[in-house]
Amino acid sequence: MRILKFGGTSVGNAEAFAQVADIIARARTEDPQTVVVTSAMSGVTNALIAAAQAAARGDEKVYQDVRSELLVKHQVVAGQLITDGVTRAALGRLFEERLATFERLCQSIAILGELTPRGLDVVSGLGERLAAPLLAAVLRSRDIPAEAVDASEIIVTDNNFGSANPLMDKTRERTRARLLPLIEGGVVPVVTGFIGATEDGVATTLGRGGSDYSAAIIGACLDADRVEIWTDVDGVLTADPRIVPNARTLPQLSYAEAAELAYFGAKVLHPKTILPAIEKDIPIYVLNTFNPDHPGTRIVRETDPDNNVVKAISAIRGLTLITVEGRGMIGVPGIAARTFQAVASVGANVLMISQSSSEQSICFVIPEADAPKVINALKEAMAQELEKRHIDSIHGLNDIVIVAVVGSAMKGTPGIAAKVFGALGEAGINVIAIAQGSSEANISLVVAQGNCDEAVRRIHAAFELDKG
Ligand code: ADP
Ligand code: ASP
Ligand code: MG
Repeated sequence: MRILKFGGTSVGNAEAFAQVADIIARARTEDPQTVVVTSAMSGVTNALIAAAQAAARGDEKVYQDVRSELLVKHQVVAGQLITDGVTRAALGRLFEERLATFERLCQSIAILGELTPRGLDVVSGLGERLAAPLLAAVLRSRDIPAEAVDASEIIVTDNNFGSANPLMDKTRERTRARLLPLIEGGVVPVVTGFIGATEDGVATTLGRGGSDYSAAIIGACLDADRVEIWTDVDGVLTADPRIVPNARTLPQLSYAEAAELAYFGAKVLHPKTILPAIEKDIPIYVLNTFNPDHPGTRIVRETDPDNNVVKAISAIRGLTLITVEGRGMIGVPGIAARTFQAVASVGANVLMISQSSSEQSICFVIPEADAPKVINALKEAMAQELEKRHIDSIHGLNDIVIVAVVGSAMKGTPGIAAKVFGALGEAGINVIAIAQGSSEANISLVVAQGNCDEAVRRIHAAFELDKG
């Protein structure tokens, strides 16, 4: 059994839908048990979120415009690919109904003047709920039996809105009960990516870019033989091709390497995608919808040996480096523990910790959006130390990025860090901090946002990653 996930650009317009239908038809000839997971059409999730945010500010025009734009966008695809008038009319009614719900939701948001994470999840998940019925109808119009399935029926999550976590036992039970009869009957389920629901049926989302994760969750629940992530590039590349135009496709990656790259900003995979696959040892393939014969990238537990110690470079933007420092910190027990307790108490995610051996400072990196509340929490927790001057200052440096150099074989290979720093030194790029004792598959360094692209390019060139 295969799970095929299609991202936003893969269902971006009628041509792309047709291409996706061809890929699904071909997959079924190779393995009749095929499950499809789809994202919203490209740009739709952003438009839905922007409309909800505008509504919360009292701007009602945006959601009215988005409603009509989205209706047209989906109807155009249906108009071009579905010849049967009755089917097209039924689809049109479904789009109108869902978009009327969207408008009502935005009206309530405007009245309340507030957008809660819970409300946002209902709105932002609507794009997938438009795309899945459309794709299922396109498949049926090509004589491929298909049925749209709303993932809120099968993916049961906690109520961590905006980044919900699946409850795997319940999800497995429901996924199998709902999908196996379809699959056994030769029908292709077309499941909405990105969304789920709590046990009580409240809508949730798995986080931006979460359809990859949906596919892996469903793959694990169905004990699939492979999960295919169909996107708009030839697999996982040695760097983001928008930054490094001569980046090269990596034929294979280990789960650990892929997880590091995804965690540190390689948008091609949602960071949590690897987790369900690791548990069941399911290979993940990253493939190009617009170049379907390219072999892409195979992600597995153990890769075949190759010569590349450094595999790829990724970068994550929009971060703040927090520093807690003071000469009086030396020897005061528990400062590090209390620092991270304070960070955890406001729910912020620490991406990297950089310790200095002198014990005079603790530095760590968090998303910029969390910085004000983290600094406040730290100042409160350390009020006494600040007063006694054990700690001199707690401050944040904004506009920084983490550049991650990834490769499992780096462990035990001398000279990698020296080469990275040499390449940056030559370019006059200042390294603000480095991560010590992070994962064995990764060296991460902090640089100013303005240096990000150049740093990635310089490291890519130093290791000749374009040559393979
Ligand atoms: P989809 O809509 O199919 O989920 P995304 O836009 O989420 O696609 O992810 C694919 C994009 O990820 C690529 O177009 C590319 O710009 C970006 N990307 C960033 N880093 C990498 C990388 N290392 N390899 C491939 N793509 C990358
Ligand atoms: N449509 C969602 C997003 O834009 C999920 C996805 O594309 O994977 O974040
Ligand atoms: Mg994506």
